[in-house]
Amino acid sequence: MPNTPKPSTYFGSRTDVGCQRERNEDSLIVSPPLFVVADGMGGHKAGDVASEVAVNTIAALAPTIPDVDLLGRAVESANHAVITAAQKSDREGMGTTMTACVVQGDKIAVAHVGDSRAYLLHAGKLQQITRDHSWVADMIEQGQLTPEEARVHPNRSVITRALGSDPYMQPDLYEVTASEGDRLLLCSDGLTSMVDDGSIQAMLARIRDPQRCAAALVNEAIANGGADNITVIVIDIVGTNAKAERRERRRGRAWMVVLLLALVGIIGGGVFAAYNWMQNSAYLVEENGKVVIYRGIPDEIPGIETHWLVRETEVEVKDLQPSAQSRMADGLVVDNLDAAEHLVSEYERQAKEEAADQMARNKSASSSAKETSSKSEGGKKSS
Ligand code: CA
Repeated sequence: MPNTPKPSTYFGSRTDVGCQRERNEDSLIVSPPLFVVADGMGGHKAGDVASEVAVNTIAALAPTIPDVDLLGRAVESANHAVITAAQKSDREGMGTTMTACVVQGDKIAVAHVGDSRAYLLHAGKLQQITRDHSWVADMIEQGQLTPEEARVHPNRSVITRALGSDPYMQPDLYEVTASEGDRLLLCSDGLTSMVDDGSIQAMLARIRDPQRCAAALVNEAIANGGADNITVIVIDIVGTNAKAERRERRRGRAWMVVLLLALVGIIGGGVFAAYNWMQNSAYLVEENGKVVIYRGIPDEIPGIETHWLVRETEVEVKDLQPSAQSRMADGLVVDNLDAAEHLVSEYERQAKEEAADQMARNKSASSSAKETSSKSEGGKKSS
């Protein structure tokens, strides 16, 4: 069986009922580029219904690009959907928070209602993007409570804006430009009421794998009492916009490949031939700074596996010629695996030669330096 390509692992998520509640009323969406946390409330099953109706609506209506206005409108529609569902099912009073993000490259669009939160970890520092719509947040702003007092205040779960009651409700909108290496965190208050910002920051900075990080944050909230449902999504900002655009371009090219495959299929006497052709192709592409060999083609075709990881090489992309470097970004397609291996050994040979040249240059530079210094020493002696 061929190797399957590595799954993209730039995000992770976990939701848990916690230790004291009977039901998990949180809902989440992890469907790049869309990530959503919704924390339902209302009791008697209403909370789960509210958050579920809200996420289903936003999943259907959210934009696929980080456009805050379109995302905001999708949240408004989710609000209407929750109101309608409440009226129909006689569950008036049910509601939900919603923190929704569309992430593309380094651009993040955020629409937010309630006391779930979005944070950005930038250069090791945690910044809260969203402002809570809650009674305690208002009190903190007025200087009547400290954040520490707010976390344990009996009114800490009173929220001042939610989906499901006011048809004119408007979400707060934020447009964020992040940097590669930043981390986005979405969470329900079941995390932030149990784990302080300092600990969250430390865990986000320490645990590299986003899935393990999300799980560890949830476990920490449980270890601290788990008084509420806990939902966490961790998303690594892996690319600049240029990279995201390349990905889009590759996706756009996919349909051309479908057409080509069909054409080759007709001429060659069947789709089998086309698939065979694709399977025998190979390409080199950059992953984590190294050249990696795949069998297949770099393009993506919905529903069809188009490439399989062969191996990661030791060749560093930064050591290649600039022209080879830029071709490596999109995937450098070659005839077959042999050709791919041949190219890699060629790169290895070039790198070795370059290293040997460099060593020779260093050697001659240091020996001429020695010469100069012994000359000047000699000069000193003679004077
Ligand atoms: Ca909650």
